Amino acid sequence: MNNRNRYPTIAGSESQQTPFGVRTLKASLGSENRIYPVPGTNYALDRFDPEKIKTEFSVFDNIESKFHYLDSAATSQVPDCVVETMVNQLQTHRANVKRGIYKMAVDASESYERARQRVAAYLGAADESEVIFTSGTTSGINMLAYSLIEGFAPGDEILVSQLEHHSNIVPWQIVGQKNGIRIKYLPVMDDGRLNLNRLEEFITEKTRLLAITHGSNVTGAITNVPYLAEVAHYYGCKLMLDGAQMAAQGPLDLLELDADYYVFSGHKVYGPTGIGVLWAKKSLLETLPPAFGGGEMITHVNLEGSEYAPPPHRFEAGTPPITQAIGLAQALDWLCIQDLDGLHQHLIHLTEKIITGLKHLNDRQHAVKVIGPVSGHPRLPLVAFTIEGIHPHDICQILNDRHGVATRGGNHCAQPLHDSLGLEGSVRVSLAAFNSEQDVDALLNGVEDCMAKLG
Ligand code: PMP
Repeated sequence: MNNRNRYPTIAGSESQQTPFGVRTLKASLGSENRIYPVPGTNYALDRFDPEKIKTEFSVFDNIESKFHYLDSAATSQVPDCVVETMVNQLQTHRANVKRGIYKMAVDASESYERARQRVAAYLGAADESEVIFTSGTTSGINMLAYSLIEGFAPGDEILVSQLEHHSNIVPWQIVGQKNGIRIKYLPVMDDGRLNLNRLEEFITEKTRLLAITHGSNVTGAITNVPYLAEVAHYYGCKLMLDGAQMAAQGPLDLLELDADYYVFSGHKVYGPTGIGVLWAKKSLLETLPPAFGGGEMITHVNLEGSEYAPPPHRFEAGTPPITQAIGLAQALDWLCIQDLDGLHQHLIHLTEKIITGLKHLNDRQHAVKVIGPVSGHPRLPLVAFTIEGIHPHDICQILNDRHGVATRGGNHCAQPLHDSLGLEGSVRVSLAAFNSEQDVDALLNGVEDCMAKLG
């Protein structure tokens, strides 16, 4: 059992007695981290026009006009400017980076490093050397796991949660099993939020890392990061956030959030596949060993051993995903020039409309269950639900075949979460900037049709 003094979990700004003396508790469990506004907020709908945004996504001209894409939590669509940027790079300066001295190679290297700067700006990083390009969230977590484990000892503990995507469970299990590291799981409450009230029960003097989602890809719950970070750091643990879902909601301020490590994927932030980012505080990267070896991550190699390059290149062995990194930076730039307040409010409105619509159907037949936090808690623009007696895959099939609505059915790579909620699976609907009222209407009509046909 944890033999450290308990961390105060009561909201408030008064001084608290701690093992390290008197201090002031800044973050609190009571006040949520409202990065993403609360559903139901009043706003002027005419401020944001998804139809105008949609014209920037040619994919919607190339498919059936009545197709409703509601699966952006899996992969968002890309605006034309991202495609054009990538094509331009391929057609004007495709070359390997950090190597050649001819103009195309220099241009490629410059574009690649400029992409790093733009990603750093989006994340609110202190320095661009904190940004490591990976191939996605999963590869970022694996890379971190293999690098960190070098400094862990058998018996050390890593705290993840039941809410996590498999990408933030399995890598820790793999390195944990090989190295005698214990993986512990913070439980989830019935409403799909992390049970932060129990956080201290799970942290011991052996806990080295908290690896937790910034926002759930199933329940949509957004994690109270300031609280988590303060508790983690108070106990001397590091905090890694899985930002796969949250990064698409707009620019971040990682220094302010006080995370130590952050990962996300390009394909969920209006960018290309095959690219992602592992961000870490510079001071941590400087002492972190590389997980992978190869060209371009060294300063000197001889047969006895190698000297590694400083971060970030130490962590980018081999040829990186150059075109994709440039495309990712363009996607983030594109997002930053949108009316972000209007976008958030629009997505809140649509999310609330989906939840209200599903609840309305439930009032009639008592069969629809919406998963996730109730109105009043911050939520990502996604909604998972079940319909009693109908398999999620059948719902998705009907939605697709009869209504042209693209959704996801299954456990969404979050089997432990579904187990803890007593569910085999669910249907997930997720929104992005190009979604409109019509998409939601088509969804709700389709769900009603499913209930009539299969219920
Ligand atoms: N974490 C979360 C919360 C996710 O939603 C996803 C993607 N569904 C991942 C991790 C994995 O992302 P990727 O497949 O891009 O590596």
